[in-house]
Parts: sequence; C-alpha cells; structure tokens
Amino acid sequence: MSSKNIIVGVPKEIYGGEMRVALVPKMISSLKRLGQDIVIEKGAGNRAFFSDEEYEQAGAGVAPNAAQLYAEADIIVKINPPQENMDEEKHEVEMMKQGCTYIGFLNPTKKPDVIRRMIEKTITGFDMEYMPRIARAQSMDILSSMSSIAGYRAVIIAAQYLGKFFPLMMTAAGTIPPVRVMILGAGVAGLQAIATARRLGASVEAFDVRPAVREQIESLGAKCIGLDAIETVETIGGYTKRVSDEFLESEREIIDSRIVHHDVVITTAKAFGENAPVLITDGMVRRMKKGAVIVDIAADQGGNCELTVAGKNIEKYGITICGVINLPATFPVDGSILYSKNMTNFITNLYKTKDGTFDFEDEITRSTCITYQGKIVNKAIKKTIQKEE
Ligand code: NAD
Repeated sequence: MSSKNIIVGVPKEIYGGEMRVALVPKMISSLKRLGQDIVIEKGAGNRAFFSDEEYEQAGAGVAPNAAQLYAEADIIVKINPPQENMDEEKHEVEMMKQGCTYIGFLNPTKKPDVIRRMIEKTITGFDMEYMPRIARAQSMDILSSMSSIAGYRAVIIAAQYLGKFFPLMMTAAGTIPPVRVMILGAGVAGLQAIATARRLGASVEAFDVRPAVREQIESLGAKCIGLDAIETVETIGGYTKRVSDEFLESEREIIDSRIVHHDVVITTAKAFGENAPVLITDGMVRRMKKGAVIVDIAADQGGNCELTVAGKNIEKYGITICGVINLPATFPVDGSILYSKNMTNFITNLYKTKDGTFDFEDEITRSTCITYQGKIVNKAIKKTIQKEE
C-alpha cells in the first residue's frame, strides 16, 4: 500500500441492530481511482453478507480490529454516529486520528457530546443528514435512499401483522376484496409505500399537504384524498415547512372521515426541522376497524399517531401500532449497496479539488460540514449546542 495515498477506513457498525456496512466491495475500485486506499475492519461486512475475502479481492486491506483501523485511517466512513466501543473500551472518536475526517451520520443536536469530542480532536465532520435537496445532490442523497427502504419495509411489516390478504383473492370459498391502505405523507418513504402496497394488490389512498404530489400519487395508481381542501403549503429546499395548528385541525378531520375504512395506515408525514405532526388521535384509533395495523415510520421523530411508542409494537383497541425505527438497518444487502453508492458519489465530489482541500463554495460540501478546524461550522447546530451549555 502506497504511503502517500489517503486511507479510507470502514469500521464495523456497533449500534444495536445495525446490519449494514458503509462501503461494499464493489465501490472499492471507484475510491482507488481517486487515489485512496481502503481498509475495512475484519468482519465489517459479514452481517450484510460481504466477506473479508471479497473486500480483499476488490483491493481493500483488512484491519484485525477497530483500534488498528482507527489508528490507520485518514477518513472514517461510517453509518451510525460515533459511540462507545465496548470491545475496545474506548469511544470511537477517541480512537480516531487527530485531525482526520469523519463522513456518516452525526445526529449533532441529539448527540452534542460527540460533536464536542470531535472538536477537541479537530476532526472534520460531515453529516449526510444535511444533504441539500438539489438536483446535483440526488446521487449522494443517503436519506432518500434509506427512506425508500423504510417505505417498502413498512408495507411488508403491515402485511406481516394484518390477518388479511393484500390482493383481491378469488377462491372456491368466495371472493376476498383487496385490503385498503392509507398513506399519510407522500414524500420519499410515502411514495415507496404507495408503490409497494399497490404491487401487493392493495387499494391505496394517500394524503399529503403539498399539492404538487397529486400527480405522483396518481401515477402510482393510488387515490389522492383531501388535497382539494388545501391551500398552498410553503417549501424550503424541497422540504415542506410546518403547517399551522388550524391547518392541522382541518387535516385531522379529513383523515378521521377516511381512516375508518382502512385496514392499514402507514404514516410518514414530517415537515423540515420539526417533530412529526400528530395526524392520528386516540379517538381515531378507537374508531378504526378491529385488526387494522398502523405502521408509524415517523416514530423516530415523535410519531404521527398519538399512541405510537418508538421502537415498540403495541396493541390498543384491537389495533396494532408499530413504532418502527431504523428500518434500513434491518435491510442489510440493498441498504449497504445504496448507502455506499451514495457515499462514494459524495466522497468523489468532496475530493474533487486537485490539492485535496475542501471546496466550501460547493453547496453540498458546505451544507453537510458540521465541524472543521476545531469549530462547529453549521450555524444552526452551533446555536442549539451552545444553548444547552
Ligand atoms: P420527506 O420529506 O420526503 O416526506 C415527508 C412528507 O410529509 C412530505 O411530502 C411532506 O409534504 C409531508 N408532510 C409534512 N407535513 C405534513 C402534514 N401535516 N400532513 C401530511 N403530510 C405532511 O421525508 P421522508 O424521507 O419520506 O421521511 C419521512 C419520515 O420517515 C421522516 O420522519 C423520517 O425521519 C422517517 N424515516 C424513518 C425511518 C425509519 O426507519 N423509521 C427511515 C427513514 C425515514
């Protein structure tokens, strides 16, 4: 391995339930073309069915443990925010080289301690959650790739808990009608949920506050509900802005009038920088058909259903409510492939300058950079973290 090359290190993900790996063997050659050498931690890809041998055949080195990987790497490519590594009895940031670069998720407002540790070690941190929703960034948009997985998985989970067939079934014992599915929020996850439910043969209705999504909903074969009653909703960088309380009240009335007809409700509604709005109240759940299933994808952001418990499946009034979190973690093969393709595109853009410096004129680099040269460079995050001190 040439000593002048930058070394990209891929540690094993240690967050509970995580099965993905941040870089799959197929992406190694693209990074090598950028003049980077890749080292993975032994067994990093095992849970996603990518063996150490495949990485070696693709030209990567294999470090025997996390401590050695962190000691070698100039760039750490990861999925989940750095945390305490119990095997090494060290925090992942502690194991990183002084002044190295971290690329992955950081969840900075919820994990300010990690940001403080990174500042102390002058680690440059890029958070994929802050990817701008612009056309040029689409190929690097990990959030969207992972939301697609979540939308798909949510429907599969609903099918697992529902005691009914999804499609129309004509049997010798009679005809069973297709299940009725309602999707709340037709962004990335919602549209994928619509497409998946339709593929399984369900009759689907969807609701969103952005009139622009009507065409997308209908092109997937679903019925758009409630939009006629809706005034224009503002968006910021492709994301919906928070709607008023009065607006939410009338929205809940529309949902209330429809929810009683549905067997499955998948909720994905979320406005930019806000907690998920409550769209399904206790009263609505009480009025739903017995045996119905709600899968609340927005559970990690507070939930769209008043009764959702994040990370738990509960039953109330005969309705199963799944407060699903980190669904992409349970989808290791395609989850890793999509993650690493987006990540490789991001790294290629990040290291496009000939001298290896970061181009902060580039909106993608600027928006995703959280820490640089011992400082928090994202103003909103700096303000939130300082407020807590
Ligand atoms: P997105 O921004 O693409 O879609 C959100 C949609 O909600 C937008 O179309 C927006 O217009 C709509 N919306 C906003 N306010 C609404 C309201 N009051 N009523 C109806 N619709 C409203 O986001 P996404 O990438 O599809 O993610 C959706 C949610 O899923 C987020 O909360 C995200 O954190 C969560 N998510 C969870 C998992 C998981 O594993 N559970 C994985 C990925 C994403």
